[in-house]
Amino acid sequence: MNHFERRRGELHCEDVPLARIAEEVGSPTYVYSTATLVRHARVFQDALTGLDALACYAVKASGNLALLSLLRKQGMGFDIVSGGELFRALRAGADAKTIVFSGVGKQRHELAAALEAGILQFNCESEEELLQLSQVAVALKKKAPVALRVNPQVDAKTHPYIATALATSKFGVPAQRIRDAYGLAASLPGLEVVGLACHIGSQIGEVKPFVQAAGKMRALFETLCRDGHDLRHLDLGGGLGVPYGDGKTPAAPDVYGRALARELAGLDARILLEPGRLVVANAGLLLTRVLLKKRSAGKRTFVVVDAGMNDLMRPALYQAHHELEPVARPRTRIERVDVVGPVCESADVLAKARRIPHLLSGELVAIRTAGAYGMSMASNYNARPRPAEVLVSGKTYKVVRERETLEDLVRGERL
Ligand SMILES: *Cc1c(COP(=O)(O)O)cnc(C)c1O
Repeated sequence: MNHFERRRGELHCEDVPLARIAEEVGSPTYVYSTATLVRHARVFQDALTGLDALACYAVKASGNLALLSLLRKQGMGFDIVSGGELFRALRAGADAKTIVFSGVGKQRHELAAALEAGILQFNCESEEELLQLSQVAVALKKKAPVALRVNPQVDAKTHPYIATALATSKFGVPAQRIRDAYGLAASLPGLEVVGLACHIGSQIGEVKPFVQAAGKMRALFETLCRDGHDLRHLDLGGGLGVPYGDGKTPAAPDVYGRALARELAGLDARILLEPGRLVVANAGLLLTRVLLKKRSAGKRTFVVVDAGMNDLMRPALYQAHHELEPVARPRTRIERVDVVGPVCESADVLAKARRIPHLLSGELVAIRTAGAYGMSMASNYNARPRPAEVLVSGKTYKVVRERETLEDLVRGERL
């Protein structure tokens, strides 16, 4: 559920007409709903009742400080994958003791910053990373709380770019080597072994891969405890999918939560989860304006909008489907069009051969379910300033990130 609805035919975010935001802030602009974010955070956390759980929001899904601050106030921790995301989370007021640090390649200065901050857990993904983290910790006279990310080798049945638990994946330590890797971690002077972690992929629609992974992880957790490791945290990652309007309906959070609770019943561990997409995807949309329409020789109709693949990369990168609709009252006449951006790439297509209500130049379009992996993946390709971000709350809204300026585009450059 989300709070983007039509009133008298016109699309609103909560009580604010999107047309007003476009008029005052310009386009393209990402618009997020506070009520939807709060609701999603609650629904996810409620789904975990029965587990001693901490939900650590995956900052990479959408890292605006205002969003992070809101989610922190809803009791969420954070899953970070870089020193930059550590900086964001701390700047948003996060308690370091709610932060887990994931990722296959962490730089020494990033490890040091996280050690200085005193984060909850480092999710290490290789034997070599353990050695490096231990060295950094010893130099700082600290002990790094460590979990190893294991690759549980379950097929998450998702897009190959976001499947992470196959045998060919770069992520995690292979299950066959995990006990030896824990032996190594326990022997290193700068480390304190505290947990076990996995993350099997993203936009996963079925509960089954999560249940399979939880079962394998539980068994491994118990084996490692028998090996003498004092494990306290079992981190099962993120990955639960959201409906993008393409006909597929992913499992609901409460079904997911109940299945996990059943699989993990009686396990003496704090359960960490790392939801990203689920929290923000439907809480945000990308507001864009039609620049012009044109016809190709092949009789295709193109609607050229002012948002491109640099603003929303998912369609180009994952062939992802995003629903889009006029902001004004939709006309009854339906047209089959390709909605494209201005970027000089044939991949810059936001919707292909889509049947949508007739649109005219100058009209506003809402690209739905763009809150996750939208702004966080935006770039300056084609020297395009990145969009503004707006957070709506009831009758009011705030620009929580200003649109980039031309000066921003050349910041740090020298002639
Ligand atoms: C991307 C990522 C997540 C979040 O995945 P979602 O599909 O957005 O829930 C969680 N954990 C790790 C380690 C990730 O890389």
